Amino acid sequence: MNQLSVELKDESATVLMGNKLSQAVKTGAIIYLHGDLGAGKTTFTRGVIQGLGHKGNVKSPTYTLVEPYELNSVNAYHFDLYRLGDPEELEFMGIRDYFELNSLCLIEWPERGAGILPEADLDITLEYVDAGRVINLVANNPKGLSILALLEQ
Ligand code: ADP
Ligand code: MG
Repeated sequence: MNQLSVELKDESATVLMGNKLSQAVKTGAIIYLHGDLGAGKTTFTRGVIQGLGHKGNVKSPTYTLVEPYELNSVNAYHFDLYRLGDPEELEFMGIRDYFELNSLCLIEWPERGAGILPEADLDITLEYVDAGRVINLVANNPKGLSILALLEQ
């Protein structure tokens, strides 16, 4: 299947899902994170980054646009493009360096970087459902499919 949906009943379920995904993206991937403000994109990213061994906080880089993490298995970059005025600003940030071979890029508000960002291996959407959330993961290519296959094990 190229798609997977999971109910996340509370914040800790979102973090656990991020922990689980972390084990499937240890060698890098490009992941777009969609969803309204407060849907859980940063919470989920915290689960991924801490799942890869980071001990400190994971806060959305709202003003700096990107936060790098040097992890054991991979270089990770957490983007929050909410405040990006023009996709071309990404070029000035030296975006190509972030998408080096085998980096893990988790990108909130990827729509703001349309035309400049590389294509995602995986599109993840978080939605409000009652008091919890539902996460939907869609694979766009063979790499995305292999990540989903690992998650479904
Ligand atoms: P975003 O980055 O999408 O704007 P955040 O992760 O910063 O969202 O905030 C999400 C908020 O929703 C946090 O207050 C978090 O505690 C809460 N939250 C996360 N996952 C769930 C869930 N599965 N059910 C209920 N609340 C959640
Ligand atoms: Mg956020």
